[in-house]
Amino acid sequence: MKQKTISVLQLYPRDMNIYGDWGNVLTIVRRLEWHGYTPELLTYNQGDAFPEHVDLVLGGGGQDAGQSKIQDDLLKIGPKLHELAEADVPMLVICGLYQLFGKFFKTSSGEIIKGIELLNLETHAGNERLIGNIVTQSDDFGDIVGYENHSGQTFLADGVKAFGTVVRGAGNSGKDATEGARYKNVIGSYLHGSLLPKNPQVADWLITQAVRRKYGDFEPNVINDTFALKARGIAANRPR
Ligand code: GLN
Repeated sequence: MKQKTISVLQLYPRDMNIYGDWGNVLTIVRRLEWHGYTPELLTYNQGDAFPEHVDLVLGGGGQDAGQSKIQDDLLKIGPKLHELAEADVPMLVICGLYQLFGKFFKTSSGEIIKGIELLNLETHAGNERLIGNIVTQSDDFGDIVGYENHSGQTFLADGVKAFGTVVRGAGNSGKDATEGARYKNVIGSYLHGSLLPKNPQVADWLITQAVRRKYGDFEPNVINDTFALKARGIAANRPR
């Protein structure tokens, strides 16, 4: 161990944590250890005190009901999350929280669930659910594989770029071949599955940003990713 600690904050594990998103937390914790760093796992649920020090933020998806439930609390900690994002803290938020890092999610019954507007995008429930295995492509991350399941159709506006371009699947809206969004070191994505175990390049990117920001330099170890690569291969070739 390098005696260097990275504090990982999981947002709303009680209400926003579906389709295996917990795997993202396990992957970050385990890969930090494999790289010789000491992970400190923090969780934040409604009403908790927001931790003093955070190096990396993770958040998962949830049903519309879960999104409604956390809405008020999320708006309260919004300024804190903005502050961290502006200070280049890396974050990965999936599906339900991805939508609420944007301006709003308008449900099929017309309810507006407000977001924290960290990502310049908005989401409207569509008539069909966008479900299935998905592969996207990114200049920074290569192929990204996962599984999507959402009714929301997300539209990106100025200042955010897509996380990937859809090769197979629906992505943000099923209409413009974009998937997810990026702003500074924040990544939002629809990809469950979970995303990080099968996309170690994304996990290591998040870790690199967190470690460099805190300690100036990242000294990675070589990790045996045989199983992750096998899982990637299988996921990429599954029928939609
Ligand atoms: N309720 C949202 C939707 O269906 C988010 C779903 C999710 O997080 N998987 O669009």
